Amino acid sequence: MSERHQNLAVIGHVDHGKSTLVGRLLYETGSVPEHVIEQHREEAEEKGKGGFEFAYVMDNLAEERERGVTIDIAHQEFTTDEYDFTIVDCPGHRDFVKNMITGASQADNAVLVVAADDGVAPQTQEHVFLARTLGIDELIIGVNKMDVVDYKESTYDDVVDEVTQLLKQVQFNTDDASFIPISAFEGDNIADASDNTPWYSEETLLEALNDLPEPQPPTDAPLRLPIQDVYTISGIGTVPVGRIETGVMNIGDDVSFQPSDVGGEVKTIEMHHEEVPKAEPGDNVGFNVRGIGKDDIRRGDVCGPADEPPSVAETFQAQVVVMQHPSVITAGYTPVFHAHTSQVACTIESIDKKMDPSSGEVAEENPDFIQSGDAAVVTIRPQKPLSIEPSSEIPELGSFAIRDMGQTIAAGKVLDVNE
Ligand code: GDP
Repeated sequence: MSERHQNLAVIGHVDHGKSTLVGRLLYETGSVPEHVIEQHREEAEEKGKGGFEFAYVMDNLAEERERGVTIDIAHQEFTTDEYDFTIVDCPGHRDFVKNMITGASQADNAVLVVAADDGVAPQTQEHVFLARTLGIDELIIGVNKMDVVDYKESTYDDVVDEVTQLLKQVQFNTDDASFIPISAFEGDNIADASDNTPWYSEETLLEALNDLPEPQPPTDAPLRLPIQDVYTISGIGTVPVGRIETGVMNIGDDVSFQPSDVGGEVKTIEMHHEEVPKAEPGDNVGFNVRGIGKDDIRRGDVCGPADEPPSVAETFQAQVVVMQHPSVITAGYTPVFHAHTSQVACTIESIDKKMDPSSGEVAEENPDFIQSGDAAVVTIRPQKPLSIEPSSEIPELGSFAIRDMGQTIAAGKVLDVNE
């Protein structure tokens, strides 16, 4: 067991090999329980089959998928020499974007799987946009299915070029990306350097995972606790619940709920049905505040210290990346913004700058419109009070997704809040 922990996202186009790779990682790191392997080994020996352990992992993943269980590869765990990895919810899952911005599946780093025989595909683009906008630090790119293209170096190079171009387009620093030719299915360059790719002498996938930078410790930002629900519990009273994103909550603290603009002293804090004197980032808590009734606060409020209350935006400036919009976005467009636990219609009041995708520099001041693939700085006016923070001060409360017509059309980071 390692003390150090990484939340890892495995992203990439459907059928490029994400599940197979996760199965391979579980197998190579010995993260499949011994008794399970043992049982499978006996069965396999009876039937005279080889390759049983990996087959077992794959059977299990396939079975889950057939049953329509949404867990498939998400929430699997494996341990390398350096880190305990948890695979977090993956793009493609229905609630992924929501989970990512509400903190439920904050990934530190990601493995992007790109099939060598297919190259960059629509979801490759979408996921890279998301990873970039929502703050993935490092990307390991597994150019997968090398066995299908006869381990050809030129094919690998073509895919590397194509992905590098995509990364530049979304302004992802290519110094933070490493490429590895792999076969998730055959096991090439996963745990051991493969003889099939003599032209490649750099890291294996496991080495690259071990070399990932350690996730930043939580910021020393003040308490920010977005409220998920508000309950009334007999004997206690009003109990807002939510997950602490930053800071600490102690019994006796003076807190403020914004934008509802009410506050009081914390009387009790409960976690896993037990009373606790204090709670920290990542803790899911229910708590009770003196004098606060059920109708005083609501989902989407953010709780913070009374002397450093969460900011409420009259307007805010943000950098957005448009992922998929059927036409063009102009000033006046009013879609729904999802930020932490709140959903508020917001008007894009002005499009201030369009950025050049390859250089990250300003390409056009005050453009008339933006469309899919564009990155821009925009000014936004929430139609109802919204508590949100500059991403540079409190990253956990500084990102959002924009949804319309049942899908995520853009994601963004808050640059500046005008209260
Ligand atoms: P996902 O949709 O990205 O999770 O893709 P899967 O892991 O389900 O893989 C899709 C198909 O590609 C399956 O039939 C896999 O067996 C196959 N596959 C995945 N990785 C490899 C590989 O490295 N080599 C070969 N030949 N097939 C692969």
